[in-house]
Amino acid sequence: MKRLFGTDGIRGIVGELMTPVFGAEMGMAIGTFLGKGKIVIATDTRTTKDMMKNAVVSGLISTGADVLDLGIAPTPALQYAVPYFKANMGVIITASHNPPKFNGIKCIDSDGTELHREKEEKIENIFFKKSYKKVSWENIGKISNEKINDEYINAIKKQVDVKTIRKAGLKVVLDCANGAGCYTAPYLLESLGCKVVTLNANPMGVPSHNSEPTPENLKDLVKTVKGIGADLGMAHDGDADRAVFIDEKGDYIPGEKTLAFLAGEIVKENKGGLVVTAVSSSSCVEELVKKYHGKIEYTKVGSPVIARVMRKKKGVFGGEENGGLIFPDFQYCRDGGMAAAKILEIMAKNKKTLSELIADVPTYFLYKTKIPCPGEKKEKVMTIFVEKMKKEKYRMNTIDGVKIFFSQGWVLVRPSGTEPIYRIFAESKNMKDAKDMAEKEKKMIKKIIEEG
Ligand code: MG
Repeated sequence: MKRLFGTDGIRGIVGELMTPVFGAEMGMAIGTFLGKGKIVIATDTRTTKDMMKNAVVSGLISTGADVLDLGIAPTPALQYAVPYFKANMGVIITASHNPPKFNGIKCIDSDGTELHREKEEKIENIFFKKSYKKVSWENIGKISNEKINDEYINAIKKQVDVKTIRKAGLKVVLDCANGAGCYTAPYLLESLGCKVVTLNANPMGVPSHNSEPTPENLKDLVKTVKGIGADLGMAHDGDADRAVFIDEKGDYIPGEKTLAFLAGEIVKENKGGLVVTAVSSSSCVEELVKKYHGKIEYTKVGSPVIARVMRKKKGVFGGEENGGLIFPDFQYCRDGGMAAAKILEIMAKNKKTLSELIADVPTYFLYKTKIPCPGEKKEKVMTIFVEKMKKEKYRMNTIDGVKIFFSQGWVLVRPSGTEPIYRIFAESKNMKDAKDMAEKEKKMIKKIIEEG
């Protein structure tokens, strides 16, 4: 069966996949799946938000579901709102960092976590069979309006030492990428006593830079941090579930370093504990977690699966290197606002600059390459490759592709989900070793493909 939901809900171009008809039918499918109940909905700032939200809402209420409309809110605020309003489900209309022509629909379960794959499949099934529930005119659902952003900000503040952060009076440059974070991030920082300078904080829906928080997109942020002598810079993606940071020197802190740094600090605070991250994560995470006597567990790539493993195994922290960080004491989802507050708290408590703090994170080098492989051979080639590696008795992890740990570092070989290729990543303390390891395994895979 064709799949609509990817790792982050449904995404598509407006006018192509994302049409009013699609939105309404998807709303009908979600409402049918739910049966009866209350659904909270919110959007990011995209110019197509009203068209898509109203279409989805129309479909939802046609099945008898009641809808609570929260307006514009970051994805983690919507996730917080689901249990807060005792709703049965949540829907967020967002395409995160994708360009403005995209929009998306993501479903949230009653506990605020991303909907499980099996439940998404049930919704897809209803959608493709068009087996929608229809209620009579007197049972059509109701729409009401509520707000969540202030409550979300207050809830984050309960998770950190506000007094200490306020006392530090940190000077922060904040880039909201013209996204949903415009409605929360400046107010959160201000209430934490920061001196805030904002960039791209008008929620105009068409971002002035691509809202993926990469170094290329954050040049103005870096310039401003250096220009005004700020203590740090921070940036969210379009739906503010991710956060990235710039130190006081204007250096962009790579996502894996923030992940490793926070993992180390939280394990230290907890005097141990389990950190959960994707198998593709840098060894700097494992190194710091182990340094502070914590444990690490690797999962498949994607934050919903990380969140689920964290919940099941009582992880103290988790996340991915793309700035998606999960704080389970608050909620089991990526949370850009919470990440920002936590970084400020650690800086304030330690009375150190961000560059001094991050200097403790070891540096690794990642080399990326790929090799084409026809779709039908993909699995067979992997099986033969894994068998060969097993014979060599290396430490291995096969949760998502295969990761092999060598004395110089690791190599990860993953078949791409969308293209007929294998992605090969290798990481080591120096780039030469990383490249050599990756190219060696690439050669072996090439040989297997040719022989098979
Ligand atoms: Mg996002």
